Amino acid sequence: MKEAATSPGRRMPMNLRVCEIFRSIQGESTRAGQPCSFVRLAGCDAGCTYCDTPQAQDPAAGRDMTVASVAAAVTDLGESLVEITGGEPLLQRDGVAALAARLLDAGCTVMLETNGCHDVSPLDPRIEIVMDVKTPGSGVAKRLCRANLDVLDGNDEVKFVLTGREDYLWAREFVARTPQLSRVRAIHFSPVWETLPAAALAAWLRADGGAARLAVQLHKLLGVQ
Ligand code: SF4
Repeated sequence: MKEAATSPGRRMPMNLRVCEIFRSIQGESTRAGQPCSFVRLAGCDAGCTYCDTPQAQDPAAGRDMTVASVAAAVTDLGESLVEITGGEPLLQRDGVAALAARLLDAGCTVMLETNGCHDVSPLDPRIEIVMDVKTPGSGVAKRLCRANLDVLDGNDEVKFVLTGREDYLWAREFVARTPQLSRVRAIHFSPVWETLPAAALAAWLRADGGAARLAVQLHKLLGVQ
């Protein structure tokens, strides 16, 4: 494990700022429906208009935990599928890398949800990245780290969260103009729960021949965390 040295011969354990660690059902991605443990980290720099985890935006939310204690808490939950989410996990890049390495080496499948605003290239290729491409309706579309599109591969997935028809047309165009996306495992179009009925998005995808797959947040349908 990578640790930050404070003085020669003395090391401080690496910490993560953690909002919550819990066990639930994976609600998104091609792994939707699988039991999964989640590590929700504090702090996000995006500020999407539709944020459904505002409690995790504050970098001071939650509590400090060592990487070792987070890994132990995850292990205690007993699931082999683990998602590191937020907030924006890559704001705590070193700690996330250390946590992911521990979990991967222990045989877990590790997913990482990221808002797409930060470089993913240094991450362990075993991590399954689920990257948002923010649409105009999010208010932060210009924040996309475009270099990430050249890095993602068949172990990774991309998600467009759509607020309405304009976002849908924008996302459809983005996919058509971005050949790198042919390399990712899946492209998801996910409706904002409160503003775009999933049935309307399904009808648009059906009519257009499917630039992406419909992703409905299963955990919200089930009414679980
Ligand atoms: S990236 Fe996620 S956590 Fe951050 S503001 Fe947007 S929806 Fe909220």
